[in-house]
Amino acid sequence: MADLEGCLQAALAEFKAQFGGESPSIAVYAPGRVNLIGEHTDYNDGFVLPMALPLVTVIVGRRSSSKECRLVSKAVNDLCPPFPVPAYPPPGLEEVNLDGPRWALYVKGVVALMNKDGGVPVFDAVITSCVPLGGGVSSSASLEVATCLFVEQLKGGCGLGLVDKAMLCQQSEHRYAGNKCGIMDQFVSVMAQEGHALLIDCRDHATENIPLSDPSLVVMVTDTGKRHELSVGGEYNKRRESCYSAASKMGVASLRLAKLEQLEGSGLTDVELRRARHVITEIARTQDARDALKNGDYKTFGHLMNQSHASLRDDYEVSCSELDELVVLAQTDSRVYGSRMTGGGFGGCTVTLLPRDIVEETKERMKAGYSGTPTFFVASASPGAGVITQRLNELCT
Ligand code: ADP
Ligand code: MG
Repeated sequence: MADLEGCLQAALAEFKAQFGGESPSIAVYAPGRVNLIGEHTDYNDGFVLPMALPLVTVIVGRRSSSKECRLVSKAVNDLCPPFPVPAYPPPGLEEVNLDGPRWALYVKGVVALMNKDGGVPVFDAVITSCVPLGGGVSSSASLEVATCLFVEQLKGGCGLGLVDKAMLCQQSEHRYAGNKCGIMDQFVSVMAQEGHALLIDCRDHATENIPLSDPSLVVMVTDTGKRHELSVGGEYNKRRESCYSAASKMGVASLRLAKLEQLEGSGLTDVELRRARHVITEIARTQDARDALKNGDYKTFGHLMNQSHASLRDDYEVSCSELDELVVLAQTDSRVYGSRMTGGGFGGCTVTLLPRDIVEETKERMKAGYSGTPTFFVASASPGAGVITQRLNELCT
């Protein structure tokens, strides 16, 4: 899998091939993420504990003197039809329509929301990425956040702080991509610090960096090879609705405030009860996991991961046979601390915490036992988004 440098070089080469002329003058990147624990809690005002991956989306580009923007994504091998700089959406318009291929809406939406002052210039840009698309490690947020930094550079500043940037990117995903995601992906892509996981309190947006750089410990991401499909947006939004109706029946503003004891006797349907039970227990597990990680207690952390998977599979029903298979294969060895599905579900990746000295044998065992072809990625906790124009300039001279 290509890394940051590989993505940057590929983007530069593609820019020259597509647009010729002057070299790009701006380069930015933003990472994908893996969520260690705290799944489907973000839109319930709960806690999440993700870390940024060394897998990144890169954008290179420059201002253009023509009337329309040109945009290419190598990740989907597509050239978007030229388009004028998207305008800021009129007030009150919740769902916003823009033309063009769906993938480009992730870019156009962020540009539109950053164009309140009409100050975004026409641009040419190329996107490359080593974040698997639809793989549950948040290629979408990495694209939005990279776009946000790109536009900031284009404008020579945008006056947004880290939290504002993450919120704007989330808004864009809600309004332009039609996915009512929580804040986790954009937060960690914007503000992660190297060697740390990021605990996010999704209620007040407070964050805490939790050290995660023990060289004897490994976070392994395993891609099932199964992509979550288009229908998943619908399933995701349904889960959200169940949580909100459960909270309302229990008389709380969000499931963050609900207690397990309230589940019975609140008139919840069976589905609402199970969805709420997952969220309430997962929020508690995530807080416990934070403490365990701080204490270097990987056994407890792993145990909480295993419980999280069971809850996502049985109560929240967002796992699938491929994810279950890989998780069971990882968990079979008692030296493995823990394993679970990660991301929204229905495909994508698992995350496994294990001692470094058993990584190879664990991979072999999982590969041999799995019905498909898994891809393994041993990840270190990586930094959040950044500007790499200096490196671009080195490559251009
Ligand atoms: P995930 O965020 O888990 O990877 P999503 O379904 O949320 O999955 O987002 C995937 C979608 O985001 C892709 O189908 C595509 O439309 C868009 N996308 C993400 N990265 C890129 C990229 N580098 N180039 C073009 N589109 C991208
Ligand atoms: Mg996404």
